[in-house]
Amino acid sequence: MHELAALIRAVPDFPRAGVVFRDVTPLLADAAGFARCIDALAEPWLGHGVQAVCGIEARGFIFGAALAHKLGAGFVPLRKPGKLPPPVIAVDYQLEYGTDRLEVQRNAIRPGERVLLVDDVLATGGTLAAARVLVGQLDAELVGASVVIELDALRGRERWPGGKPLHGLLHY
Ligand code: IMP
Repeated sequence: MHELAALIRAVPDFPRAGVVFRDVTPLLADAAGFARCIDALAEPWLGHGVQAVCGIEARGFIFGAALAHKLGAGFVPLRKPGKLPPPVIAVDYQLEYGTDRLEVQRNAIRPGERVLLVDDVLATGGTLAAARVLVGQLDAELVGASVVIELDALRGRERWPGGKPLHGLLHY
């Protein structure tokens, strides 16, 4: 896994002072690294009957779509407000400053469909928790979640209720 970690760039003071942004674009641009990353993301879920991978805008789309292909599943985008044509359902969630919203198309997931949530980074955990609420409102059967990077110090995992696995590939 250290080969993958070498493809993540740490960018100090971005997007604002005091934040170290983990930039996955070098990983995406590296053919072998990207393929290894998708293989590693898929590994825990092979044979778990995942029917839909729900990727969170925007980098969750990139990893999620490739992962869906690997797992033989469909891909469902969870998007920022106002991007998806109706009918949609939405969930609002807290950010450090203010709130944000995630939306999904109402007919994108059938009740009982086995879904996997995917994002690039787990930080405070608010985004992934909101995604979980959203797919729950569509009566999906949540299989679990995967993120490429988990920022352990921000303790996002504590906002992920037990019972469903959450896999983080790389930890900082
Ligand atoms: P959370 O809701 O605080 O867990 O933040 C997670 C969301 O913020 C994810 O959708 C990430 O794409 C984004 N994010 C937070 N920190 C970083 C980072 O260091 N690099 C890239 N994305 C990040």
